[in-house]
Amino acid sequence: MVHRSPVPPRPDLAAPQTGRPVQVTLDDIGTPLHDVTFVVVDLETTGAAPGASAITEVGAVKVRGGEVLGEFQTLVDPGGPVPAQIQVLTGITTAMVIGAPRIAEVLPSFLEFARGSVLVAHNAPFDVGFLKAAAAETGHAWPGFPVVDTVRLARRVVTRDEAPNHKLSTLAGLFHATTTPEHRALADARATVDVLHALLGRLAPLGITHLEDLATAADAVPADVRRKRTLADGLPDLPGVYLFRGPKDEVLYVGTSTSLRKRVRSYFTAAEKRSRMREMVRVAQAVTPVVCATRLEAQVRELRLIAEHDPRYNRRSRSPERMPWVRLTAEAFPRLSVVREVRDDATHIGPFASRAAAQSAVEALHDAFAIRRCTARLPLVPAPGASACHLAEIGRCPAPCVRPEAAAEYAQTVAGVRDAMLADPAVVVGAHTARIDALVGQERFEEAVTVRDRLAAFLRGSARSQRLAPLAACAELVAARRTDTGGWEVVLVRHGRLAGTALVPRGDDPMPAVESLRVTGEHVPAPVAPAPAGHPEEADLVLAWLGRPGVRIVSVSEPWAYPVRSAQARTDPADAVAAGRGSAAAAVDAALGAVDDAGEAGVDAGVAAGADVAGGAGAGAQAGADARAGAGAGAAGRGAAGRGATAEARAERDARFTVEAAEAGAGFGLGGPSGLGGASGLSGAARLADVPGLRRASDLRVPGPAPDATHGSEDPATGAAGAA
Ligand code: SF4
Repeated sequence: MVHRSPVPPRPDLAAPQTGRPVQVTLDDIGTPLHDVTFVVVDLETTGAAPGASAITEVGAVKVRGGEVLGEFQTLVDPGGPVPAQIQVLTGITTAMVIGAPRIAEVLPSFLEFARGSVLVAHNAPFDVGFLKAAAAETGHAWPGFPVVDTVRLARRVVTRDEAPNHKLSTLAGLFHATTTPEHRALADARATVDVLHALLGRLAPLGITHLEDLATAADAVPADVRRKRTLADGLPDLPGVYLFRGPKDEVLYVGTSTSLRKRVRSYFTAAEKRSRMREMVRVAQAVTPVVCATRLEAQVRELRLIAEHDPRYNRRSRSPERMPWVRLTAEAFPRLSVVREVRDDATHIGPFASRAAAQSAVEALHDAFAIRRCTARLPLVPAPGASACHLAEIGRCPAPCVRPEAAAEYAQTVAGVRDAMLADPAVVVGAHTARIDALVGQERFEEAVTVRDRLAAFLRGSARSQRLAPLAACAELVAARRTDTGGWEVVLVRHGRLAGTALVPRGDDPMPAVESLRVTGEHVPAPVAPAPAGHPEEADLVLAWLGRPGVRIVSVSEPWAYPVRSAQARTDPADAVAAGRGSAAAAVDAALGAVDDAGEAGVDAGVAAGADVAGGAGAGAQAGADARAGAGAGAAGRGAAGRGATAEARAERDARFTVEAAEAGAGFGLGGPSGLGGASGLSGAARLADVPGLRRASDLRVPGPAPDATHGSEDPATGAAGAA
């Protein structure tokens, strides 16, 4: 018997596209239905549920392009009697199945017959459920066939006016099937083949012409939305950015995906449930693909395109200018302020998602430190007639506005604030932990939540700036990561901005690509740290990529480290508070001790002491600290040690910035996971240059060809050849 299926129309390869040229392949446009091999299967069983019932007959027909390629039919011994009502329904008696093969013998043959095909059944959950149960029972792995259910397809295109129900016998009559269903497996499978072809013929005008469309063919999608599916024709199955464009070629929406084709197609299916996106799809007239070498490039391009076009249907991405920071001002008596930009003469944390979040962080610092809250610029010597506010009365401000002798005490407070912002949030965590515990003890839970949220805002802002600052200060960083295909993904970062990326094929020497990237990469002027050169969200993306397992630093222009006690380890306020319960008292005691040690040291003396501690960090560099750590340590020195700090306190400060060199060596030298997600891991990056055999790209020439030029390539970080 030969069946002819309707041939679905070929996709319009000239669908509107602009942007980077793309070589379209057949794979790129999906698998046309006439090229798909279907195995239409039907089972007869002793009952309705797998486990309680067993298979008595298997029938299947393999078809492709309307042509029958083969048939499969066998009775199956269910291992027991066939119920009388089943015998009446199917005509299969117990006597017929005695001596037939058991399902354990039948299943391997059926799986081989169906291998590589798409399974089709009428009420597929029933048949596939029995087959899966049989596979599990007999110890066969289920191959994970794509499955098409003709009942679901029929519900989509056969109306009640045409047929009272969607039973196989009804549909076979409607579509004039050449075989009449009779509750025997092969006959029913043959009838289902005719029904399938008829249904595909009805689905083609709805844009369901490829195998990938069938997955959502039964979903309720408005016809005008589904018809827009052709906008996805020709899009490649590659990572990149897609731009939905409107009637005036305006950009409506920008998105990114590892597969442009699959993602854009999903907008025309029931998987897309957002009403705004449905509205956008109705307006869209074209989709522009921008193929990107890597997922990171795609994410960064998406961010930049959203910033450039401000598309109507994208969630508004905040421009860097609108993202607030918290500043510790640079004046005789510094104060905290929420600002829109960073300045190189002040201390900042952030950027924050909103002004409210930044203000919460300010309040967290005010809760922990007796720093002034008035906004006027105070003179070094109090003005005649000046008066203090109520904060002086309740002991929340040393009142430098009226007390010249408060200058030293105020300087120590400012130093503590700076330390908490830049290096160690322990004092803030400790203060809030005590406050939360007190409120919980009084069952004032809502207030405790407010305090917790305030702490969380501070920790998030502090952690973010501590994360961004080293990258923003780093003039150039080249990193590489193995791709799934055994090549290398190479990334060039300048001052936190993605300046270039390249893919090195498996087996190729990556070092020429690394050198080329460094020469041709975008020139990026130095920003004022901690603000990165690009959008902070772009720097976040770069940092997330650097934190992926297997990333190796090829070269870095200057050492790169985070404070060991960085707020990054405490961004979850619950964890921070829990940890704070253990260390809060010690942290507060230590801070108070440092303040006591500092004695009468003033602001200027504090700065001098900071430089001194920076020198100490320079010495500490031999043990793992770096120049950035030194700068941070300088601030820390100003913050807690001061000129009067003891040698022990100074050593403790240095130790904060000591990186875990051994871990760094393991991460980059031995090819293990770099573990860049934590403070020690990123500090480890800074230690690359100290690991024997690991130097900058120019020093990492691969010594001779790889052992297997076809199946291996060199590690750009170590120069070591290795198979994927
Ligand atoms: S006491 Fe003086 S310095 Fe302190 S907040 Fe009040 S006005 Fe400002």
